[in-house]
Amino acid sequence: MLSYRQGMLYADDVSVEALASKFGTPLYIYSEKQLLNNYRSFESVFASVPHMVCYAVKANSNGAVLKTLAAAGAGADITSGGELFRVLKAGFPARKIVYAGIGKTEAEIEYALRENIFMFNIESLEELELMNRTAARLKKRARIAFRINPHVDPHTHHYITTGKSGVKFGIPYADALKVYKRAAGLSNIDVAGIHSHIGSQITAAGPFKLAARRIAEIVRRLSKAGITLSHVDLGGGLGIRYSKETPPTPAQLRDAVLPEFPFFKGTFVFEPGRYIVGNAGILVAGVIYRKTAGGRNFLIVDAGMNDLIRPTLYEAYHEIAAVSGTSRKKIKADVVGPICETGDFLGKNRLLPRLAQGERLAVQCAGAYGFAMSSQYNSRLRAAEVMVSGASHRLIRRREKYTDLELS
Ligand SMILES: *Cc1c(COP(=O)(O)O)cnc(C)c1O
Repeated sequence: MLSYRQGMLYADDVSVEALASKFGTPLYIYSEKQLLNNYRSFESVFASVPHMVCYAVKANSNGAVLKTLAAAGAGADITSGGELFRVLKAGFPARKIVYAGIGKTEAEIEYALRENIFMFNIESLEELELMNRTAARLKKRARIAFRINPHVDPHTHHYITTGKSGVKFGIPYADALKVYKRAAGLSNIDVAGIHSHIGSQITAAGPFKLAARRIAEIVRRLSKAGITLSHVDLGGGLGIRYSKETPPTPAQLRDAVLPEFPFFKGTFVFEPGRYIVGNAGILVAGVIYRKTAGGRNFLIVDAGMNDLIRPTLYEAYHEIAAVSGTSRKKIKADVVGPICETGDFLGKNRLLPRLAQGERLAVQCAGAYGFAMSSQYNSRLRAAEVMVSGASHRLIRRREKYTDLELS
């Protein structure tokens, strides 16, 4: 989505500087074109099999992002009643919604049953029992899959590893047959599928293949036991290139997993989040002050860990580009936010042109888990968000105001 024209940074055909001047900073900018390209390039590679691509809403739940993807035909993977509310408003049909999460409350289950969502991905026997009771009370049937933990190490950051043994997610592999047999005997449960999601920002095909193999083994065993599944949901987690990673392409992901299921005639479900929105968004920040301390140069900018927490939380790397001034001499600097935490940084030791106060820089690949994880920490106002579409743009969430910090 980014390019330089005469030394100025552009998001598609719109000047980043012009947007920052108009809307202020910190500012999230998304590219509609990149968003749709990402969705289509993922969806299209599975054309040879029945499939559903359910966008993992938690990566970015901005209304315009959701509406764009819903209109393109995507389904949604949700993790809360609030996400269900938002995706229904955005126009995702209930029959394309899958619901994950280890802690669904009875109220959330009831809401989703009333809306007739497609499938619940269940993570414990107690959740199964509550689902059955709630469905019976509402005179409904719940379509379910079990999230099975295949005990595969995805070699990603330990905070975003979900498919190893000893994490809170999923049903242990060894218990799979037992839980399916229990579900098959419940009056208001329809056993539809199996689900696995092993982690996020996975940059090799191997872990996906291994997980698929282990899931396929269960599908076979279930079939022998008389339980036939209609859906295999292989989750999300496909990594993107933040710096030097070389993640598999969607086609390479497909070629890793589909051959593990030669016997399966049902529908495959995928839940990409980061892949769809990650590189379709940037965070623009303005330089407030510059200083030198302990031999290091600091650029103190107006975006902090409350706007983008990934560097702080996962020591994640995001490329940072100057919005202008690219022909100037470069210096190494730490790009830090205004928040009272030493961990409040966007990038360390970055080679950047000498920027003046008020000039701007763009943190790249900030579309996923950026605004979605932002907060009002330090009573800061959350950033505005803009969608660029070719040469036009629109404000898709206004910047918060002090009245959004009202005491009650
Ligand atoms: C977070 C999550 C996803 C999306 O993960 P990405 O790494 O953003 O693709 C998909 N499925 C489930 C169950 C998740 O928790």
